[in-house]
Amino acid sequence: MKLRGKFISFMRRLVAPLVAEWPLWVLWFVGMSIGGVCDIQRLFDIVFPETPQILRLLRIVGYGVCMSTLLAYLVAALAHICRTRWVRWPLALVALLATGAYLFIRYHYGTRLTPEIASVIQETYWAEAGEYLGTYIFSMTGLSIILALMVAMAAWCSLDLWWHRHRENHSHHRKMSGWQATLWAVLMLVVIGGAFKMACYGPLADKLTHQSRSHDENFGVDALTNLMKCHHQLQRIDDQTILAITATQQVYDTSPQPIADDSLTIVLVIGDSYIKSHASIYGYDKPTTPIQQRERDASWLIVFNDIVSPYSYTNMAMRSLLSVNDKGSGQQWCDYPLFPAIFKHAGYQVDLWDNQREFMKGSVSTNGLNGLMYHPQVINLCYTNINDRNSEFDWEFVEDYAAHRRDSKHELVLLHLRGQHFKAESRYPHTLQWTHFKPKDYTQHEPPLDDEARQEVADYDNAIRYNDYVLGRIFALFSDRQAVVVCLSDHGGEVHDYHWGLGFRDDNEHLELMLRHHHEIPFVVWCSPRLQQARPQLVERIRQAADRPGTLDNVSQMMLGLSGITTPWYQAERDILSPTYICTNRICDKYEYDLVVDMIYCMSF
Ligand SMILES: [Zn+2]
Repeated sequence: MKLRGKFISFMRRLVAPLVAEWPLWVLWFVGMSIGGVCDIQRLFDIVFPETPQILRLLRIVGYGVCMSTLLAYLVAALAHICRTRWVRWPLALVALLATGAYLFIRYHYGTRLTPEIASVIQETYWAEAGEYLGTYIFSMTGLSIILALMVAMAAWCSLDLWWHRHRENHSHHRKMSGWQATLWAVLMLVVIGGAFKMACYGPLADKLTHQSRSHDENFGVDALTNLMKCHHQLQRIDDQTILAITATQQVYDTSPQPIADDSLTIVLVIGDSYIKSHASIYGYDKPTTPIQQRERDASWLIVFNDIVSPYSYTNMAMRSLLSVNDKGSGQQWCDYPLFPAIFKHAGYQVDLWDNQREFMKGSVSTNGLNGLMYHPQVINLCYTNINDRNSEFDWEFVEDYAAHRRDSKHELVLLHLRGQHFKAESRYPHTLQWTHFKPKDYTQHEPPLDDEARQEVADYDNAIRYNDYVLGRIFALFSDRQAVVVCLSDHGGEVHDYHWGLGFRDDNEHLELMLRHHHEIPFVVWCSPRLQQARPQLVERIRQAADRPGTLDNVSQMMLGLSGITTPWYQAERDILSPTYICTNRICDKYEYDLVVDMIYCMSF
């Protein structure tokens, strides 16, 4: 009997926080469930795609309910130990704020809170507070959420006050009835289940991180842990930007060496989402690149055949392009200087004309990249001139550059186009001249497509053809200079090529095809007639390199090699044009490109 008595008293103590602090417990449970269940659903959709829907639903509810219950229980226990409203109320406010933030992001950005979203918020709300804070907070969504939070907090405080007064007044008959005891015991079991599920959740989330292509993917089990994780990640993004700036500042600690007296213009044209296999210059069966073919046949243009991008999305591809790091040797982009700074410091005029600065403004990718490229210190260290307006189409954008162009003896020009960025139908004017390909041209397409998909492929090919004319315009712009124009894309993509799919999809089943479509990039070098005349050996060196394997992250070394700048960051063995060049490991996202592609290639014999 004594043992039974002890057990009952122990159970009573365990259950006490649930009984005494149920308003707080319920608030936390509801708040955490709102944030948690959606995320867990996504987690399960990705990790267990084959499990039947109903089983998955049960597991989702299992995880969501159990873990929210556990978290809410721990909070209630804390409040129960402290026994003061000055602990309860702030705890309630935390739950409401976390849930409010979660809902705001869900409605405003249509997604869950991710570190990238958090970085967008940090930039738009804090960095440019004066301009944006008002607009967003005083938008209808912002106001409704603030109002709802205030009402919820007031209602909750009244409930809490009433309950604790009620408990004091009725403290004489606090003995539990049988059904009450059963209810609390069941809840307690759920709490214990939560502890168990929590233990399983870690490895599960880890598994997902390994499967996902972005290391920034992370899953908080609820609104609160998600906020904390995001804060941590943001800190990391900030740290990386600071590291990159510090590394870039080191360029200015070296004394600039004199550069050759010959004038030289180096142009880097950065396209977007350009699938190499859709370019007729690489053998595509539709005439998507007539201008480049004409220039190649006239021997002004040299086509590189084996270049890959280490990333399949803009944000990281651009970082690795701008930094002088080498990913294949395990070097982090943020530990190395941004190469335009080396040019500027050496006396080059550096123009950055970026047609993506205003593109999808407020979106995750644009703001994330702008945070680095337009950091005031980066602007100061890297560029001489930058553009102040964007154009809907790349042709007008190039015209804008032409109108603002300032000649200089030594110049580096960075032109960042919108290219074929999703969706391709918006990347070219729908006039008779540019609507060259039509859905009917794709009736023989493999796999067979419906009308809508055929239109999407036609749009994509039209966007490439438009891009080809834009490149032609850029070549013409520099024809009176000793100019090298390097044109590449940050990454590739998919437009129903080997299966139905647009943009990006991580696809383990067709690993080789996936890598080839997303990471192989078009890469052409145009040498102006004046350059060919003045520096035939240089042009010959470029020609010699056309079949070497290379990666986007080492383009900076090629730029430095072309420039004639003497700098400790130039490594001849990473410069594809150098006779001592060695191609390092080509890592594409998380795969070793050559290993995957060669293996499949060997197997097909
Ligand atoms: Zn991109």
